[in-house]
Amino acid sequence: MKIDRLILGAYQTNCYILRDSAAAKDCLVIDTGLEAGELVDFLQRHKLNPVAVVLTHGHPDHTTGVAVLRENHPDIKVYIHKLDAEMLTPPLTREAGLTETDSNMFAFAKQPFCTEPADFSLEEGDIIEQAGIKLKVLHTPGHTPGGISLYSKDKGLVFSGDTLFAESVGRTDMPGGSATQLLKSIKEKLCVLPDETIVYPGHGPTTTIAQEKAHNPFLK
Ligand SMILES: [Zn+2]
Ligand SMILES: [Zn+2]
Repeated sequence: MKIDRLILGAYQTNCYILRDSAAAKDCLVIDTGLEAGELVDFLQRHKLNPVAVVLTHGHPDHTTGVAVLRENHPDIKVYIHKLDAEMLTPPLTREAGLTETDSNMFAFAKQPFCTEPADFSLEEGDIIEQAGIKLKVLHTPGHTPGGISLYSKDKGLVFSGDTLFAESVGRTDMPGGSATQLLKSIKEKLCVLPDETIVYPGHGPTTTIAQEKAHNPFLK
């Protein structure tokens, strides 16, 4: 598998572009950032055809770019966990549930969100097979109710969204967050993966399960 990483938007969100091999033209995208212009440029430059985008959760710094991606690639299929699917609805609906005191992460709630629903709502254990890539859905709530991690046993890697970072974990102070649930997700769904599994988080550098079990201060 060939994995490219772009760091998109003001929140420095990791966007991963997965291909079966370096020569393959079909690709699967994980998260689109707040602004996907750089992603669209990358796809054009490498003549890649994105057949699917999987969103690790519904926060706008991971999903807003879907609109631009869809403009350029109308046939792309969008996947998100069913419990975060409604976060892709227009801002007027979303704003109803937000207050001024919600974290400033939501200051950009005034920007247009992705305004189209997802094509596929995911659940624990679902298998996504697109562009020659096979990923298993691990439901890892806590950062958001519908947060997911995407696991490839064959390749020994997991995309952890904003659930687990290198020596940190996702914040749980936003709507729908739960610190108890987040730690349970990490311990029961991620820490049980083989030690050598490479972790590709939603922000920051890659790590491994062994590294996090040994050094992540939140898991002590
Ligand atoms: Zn998030
Ligand atoms: Zn994020």
